[in-house]
Amino acid sequence: MRISVHQGTIEQERAELVVVNLFQGVTLPGGATGALDGAMGGAIRERLQAGDPLGEFGQMTVFYPRGAVPAERVLVAGLGVAELFSLDRARQLAALVARHVRSLGVSRYTSTVHGAGIGGRDTQEAAQAAAEGTILGAYRFAGYGKPAEDQRPQLEEITFVTNDPAALPKIQSGVQVGQAIADAVCFTRDLVNEPANRMTPTNLAQAAVDMAAGSGLICRVLGPQEMRELGMGALLGVAQGSREEPRFVVLEHEGGRPGDRPCVIVGKGITFDSGGISIKPSAGMERMKDDMAGAAATMGAMRAIAEIALPVHVIGLVAATENLPSGTAIKPGDVLHTLSGLSVEIISTDAEGRLVLADALGYAERLGPAAVVDLATLTGGCVVALGDVAAGLMGNDQPLVDALRLAGDETGELVWQLPLFEPYAEQIKSDVADLKNSGGRGASAITAAKFLERFAQGSRWAHLDIAGMAYAEETKHYVPKGATGFGVRLLVSWLRSRVE
Ligand code: MN
Ligand code: ZN
Repeated sequence: MRISVHQGTIEQERAELVVVNLFQGVTLPGGATGALDGAMGGAIRERLQAGDPLGEFGQMTVFYPRGAVPAERVLVAGLGVAELFSLDRARQLAALVARHVRSLGVSRYTSTVHGAGIGGRDTQEAAQAAAEGTILGAYRFAGYGKPAEDQRPQLEEITFVTNDPAALPKIQSGVQVGQAIADAVCFTRDLVNEPANRMTPTNLAQAAVDMAAGSGLICRVLGPQEMRELGMGALLGVAQGSREEPRFVVLEHEGGRPGDRPCVIVGKGITFDSGGISIKPSAGMERMKDDMAGAAATMGAMRAIAEIALPVHVIGLVAATENLPSGTAIKPGDVLHTLSGLSVEIISTDAEGRLVLADALGYAERLGPAAVVDLATLTGGCVVALGDVAAGLMGNDQPLVDALRLAGDETGELVWQLPLFEPYAEQIKSDVADLKNSGGRGASAITAAKFLERFAQGSRWAHLDIAGMAYAEETKHYVPKGATGFGVRLLVSWLRSRVE
């Protein structure tokens, strides 16, 4: 999808369709909407006076101007109540518009930037939100079926128009950033939506290599031999049940000043989680291809920051393996030795995410990081606690936790802090090793984080449990059903905040 920006007046645009907006309760439209209404002889006003709810949030009303303006169709998008308007609503509305336009069989349209004028939002941020919402809302995973019955064309070109020359450069730069970020989210969604027989650890690492080559990132991939030399006994332990080899990916963006300590992002990359010997129930197990969503978000965030040339030194780490049961798989009661030197007793082989993260966090410590943030579809307990509305957030450094919380508020990728009180560590004490990998049912999202905390002790560290956020069961505004790409926008927003 191409997105361009130009200066002009919406009522003079020659387009298949032009988009304007309207707040709820407005009876006399102003701005671009008012100008169009005037050119169409009051067609919009007439509907408003008849009581039609044109301004209700998400309401899409199409007008056919029949030559009154050069555009073939005019779409009025409802902004909802003015007091509830936010950047996230602008993003949501852009997505609803994109899908509605496509449902009309139209593949290119011209739009005002929702929220940039009468919405009173910062123009650049509004333009970023508009580009993000449009691309994210129009996303579809190609899949492997026969061509769908729905033969309507994909959206090809969106033009944002403003009549204010001072706003033009702000809209241009906002759109550029929004497009880079949204494209990276779509890249992440594709990785997660791919079936596990295609998105193996080897192929996930190859996707990182290819992406890095296109983005100017440095990329290194470690195989089992290098992992053995490093002492990554936990990652290798999880991998030993599968015939697919594990991969450990290191992506580096050298954006800071020379000698800047890196921010390190760590992603859980279980390309399929059967639970291993502690096998999961079969109902819904197909979803377990999404257990690499943390890794995919890490890769997407790295791609986005390279694309926008963020002046921060960032390293992304991906620990990728399958978790399968077999004659060579780890068993409950086994003890594994991690890169950090701590030993772990296996209670449940289904608590494998924290094992691969333990070695990845150990690797991160050696990089002398300024901060470490890990993302993982880690626990069902987090889904019980926070559902699919917010990710769990835990960490050993409150300013880092607060910064991530703020990034969540700004991007609409909500996160909520859970405590790491010391008594929770009791649940993961082992009789035969330094730690055990399962603390039982109670507070399982927290005891998983208490486990990770032991491997991140030397760093400012935060953990995002995205188990409830990685996959959407139904389409909701800019998040179509399937992989969400959750975390990419949050991470980029957090890293951008470190520049300012
Ligand atoms: Mn598991
Ligand atoms: Zn898992």
